[in-house]
Amino acid sequence: MSSTEKTANVAIVGAGLVGALNAIYFAKRGWKVDLFELRKDMRLPEVKANQRGKSINLALSERGLSALRNSGLDLDQLILEAAVPLRARMVHIGKEGRQMSQAYGKKDQHINAVDRARLNEELLDIADKLDNITIYFEHNLLQTNMDKGELIFTVGSEKKTYQSDLIVGADGAYSRTRAQLMRRIRMDYAQEYIDTAYCELTMPPIKNAGGEDDFALDPNHLHIWPRHTFMLIALPNPDKTFTCTLFMPFSMFENIDSDSKVMDFFREHFNDSIPLIGEKRLLQEYSSNPRGALISIKCKPYHYKDKAMIIGDAAHAMVPFYGQGMNCGFQDIQVLHETLDKHNVGAELSADGKVSGLQKALDEYSIERSKDAHAICDLAMYNHYEMQSAVTSPLYLARKRLEGTLHHYFPKTVIPLYTMVSFTTIRYSEAIRRWNHQTWWLNAAAATSVSVVAATAVGLGLRYYEPMIKSISKY
Ligand code: FAD
Repeated sequence: MSSTEKTANVAIVGAGLVGALNAIYFAKRGWKVDLFELRKDMRLPEVKANQRGKSINLALSERGLSALRNSGLDLDQLILEAAVPLRARMVHIGKEGRQMSQAYGKKDQHINAVDRARLNEELLDIADKLDNITIYFEHNLLQTNMDKGELIFTVGSEKKTYQSDLIVGADGAYSRTRAQLMRRIRMDYAQEYIDTAYCELTMPPIKNAGGEDDFALDPNHLHIWPRHTFMLIALPNPDKTFTCTLFMPFSMFENIDSDSKVMDFFREHFNDSIPLIGEKRLLQEYSSNPRGALISIKCKPYHYKDKAMIIGDAAHAMVPFYGQGMNCGFQDIQVLHETLDKHNVGAELSADGKVSGLQKALDEYSIERSKDAHAICDLAMYNHYEMQSAVTSPLYLARKRLEGTLHHYFPKTVIPLYTMVSFTTIRYSEAIRRWNHQTWWLNAAAATSVSVVAATAVGLGLRYYEPMIKSISKY
């Protein structure tokens, strides 16, 4: 860097999962980073004590892991140390809760249940250790002047102004940075609330034969009680509890408004969960834990010149049914920094106060990434249906089995959708495109095989599909 050049400075709004990891990436790029967070430092003991009723675990899969790995700080290893591997879904069927395991992928493939707070705290700890990151808590973004690189925060009863060369909004689904960006650019924007709310319940550990705490259910499964218009799910935590989430329409939550109605409802639909959660805890948490709303947001573009951009939920909130919101946000960071690398974006400000290549990189990122974010928002909506209903349908299960078998024999040609989304970093838009082609060919194969099967009776085997499957590999 010459004596006339200065180091570029980025202001990241929001020290949630995406903001904290992005701060680490920018710091490693050599930028000076100011990370602003509305809330108190979540690592403070008095804040930790107040976490009850918030979503405490998340499914971390390959896209998120890849971004953690690419930080160059072995963050993936650090986070996986305290993760619980989930190899399959366990579907609880009927009143008696008969259990059916449905593998997510091949034997060695699994997603990971991680503690949301621990993940965020680890990222903040690492950000704290990097000399070029300063974290400001209890700073509530009020407004920005993007042309001047100015951010105004409410801090207690004061207003404070900060300067930056690039403003990055990682301030979540209700992003104020996005609202400010909308005033500067012609942003296409669509949001949808689904008619489903969620409420979290805790399933405590049980005592095993040796008198030690143990999981109440098989911990290597994501448990689902699919009931068509509503469902209960349970994800394990490293402390041997499960966090259960009840998803159902707002009107049902409103109607089930007394202890007796709650118990009748659970006995009817989730009977096997009652002794595991415990009647007292169930009633107490059902009545006192908050009901969360679920929103899906698509927008584009994500940036204003080389001055400001949004990332993570601020750019694309999605319903949680694919377990991809954070994974997608983490992948945003990796894709953003790969795009910055591609355009040779360094940390130097030239004499005119510009970072060379930055605007071109943001133009490209915005166009390309929004296609993928929109794709996963759509897939997440689709998976709501899959989890609530399809997982018990014989046709769905047959298709899954067929896809799984074909994937085994032709691993590069036929890849189940869940595998592409959760176990690869294939672009989400490409995953949909491939899946559509696969579906077309599988449907064609199924239709044709009716007559062929009749003619040959048995033993058509997989080779029957081979020519067709090979022919889709060109896409
Ligand atoms: P957030 O986590 O919302 O963080 C935004 C931060 O910005 C917050 O810290 C907030 O305090 C701060 N902020 C907001 N406004 C301001 C302001 N004005 N000034 C300063 N700071 C501000 N994703 C997965 O990948 N896997 C899962 O299994 C999964 N399960 C989920 C289950 C549920 C029930 C829900 C609701 C979501 C789930 N998600 C999951 C999605 C995941 O939680 C989000 O995608 C992820 O938290 C987004 O991270 P973020 O940093 O972009 O936003």
